[in-house]
Amino acid sequence: MKILENKVAIVTGATRGIGKAIAIRFAQEGCDIAFCGRSRNEKMIAVEQELLALGVKAKGYVVDVADFTAAAAFVAEAMNDFGHLDILVNNAGITADAALKRMTEEQWDNVIQVNLKSVFCMTKAVQPILWRQGSGSIVNISSVVGIAGNYNQANYAASKAGIIGFTKAAAKEFGARNIRVNVVAPGFIVTEMTGEIPEQLKEIWQSRIPLHRSGTPQEVANACLFFASDMSTYSTGAVLPVCGGMEDA
Ligand code: NAP
Repeated sequence: MKILENKVAIVTGATRGIGKAIAIRFAQEGCDIAFCGRSRNEKMIAVEQELLALGVKAKGYVVDVADFTAAAAFVAEAMNDFGHLDILVNNAGITADAALKRMTEEQWDNVIQVNLKSVFCMTKAVQPILWRQGSGSIVNISSVVGIAGNYNQANYAASKAGIIGFTKAAAKEFGARNIRVNVVAPGFIVTEMTGEIPEQLKEIWQSRIPLHRSGTPQEVANACLFFASDMSTYSTGAVLPVCGGMEDA
């Protein structure tokens, strides 16, 4: 028996990177997947096909998860298409890095909206469904930067720290209905998001990581699988760093 057999998960921002790895890992465990990105591009179609090839039901949706009404419509459509819902992974995220001296209001607002408001929007949308059924698992993707801070990422760090506070509050409010809410906090993971970092800087970072390497999206996906599945039935409000032992995490 696969550990997510007969389950349905919504994964936000799964057209590439960590979200894609989560969707694939869950599908390998028998989970049907409703996922989203901002456009129906070739990446979305490729993920959809990869998931279908694993023998599960899968569909990509075009959604801006920072839009409250769009997030609600996404969940309603997924419920209509899939029939029920067990798991939500709030993964979609962006960066807009700048030193605080130079950070614009737009850079601040965009990152807070996409990274933090989206978690509120999506959680609000799934809450009545999970509440009615008296079960569910929500996994929020934060970052070690939300724990330790980082140069040029005040907006990103604030959004990711906000996700941790939100998760702990939601875990308290939802616990009585057996809805668990947890955080996975990745460190330095190789994806398109980190692709633009200069090689020299990457090497400096990697040398400071106790495991002496960057992580893979699959390693983050494994941690998400733990929280999404019945392997973690007594864990809620928890923060699991997946960062190779990076300092301060
Ligand atoms: P990525 O490769 O840039 O992928 C981001 C995903 O989010 C894409 O699928 C993108 O879809 C989607 N997305 C962005 N804005 C969206 C919006 N408004 N509505 C819906 N979807 C949206 O990023 P990643 O590296 O995989 O990161 C995934 C998550 O892990 C993020 O929350 C990130 O902050 C976190 N994280 C990453 C690292 C790292 O080292 N990579 C470390 C710690 C935490 P489209 O582009 O197709 O629209």
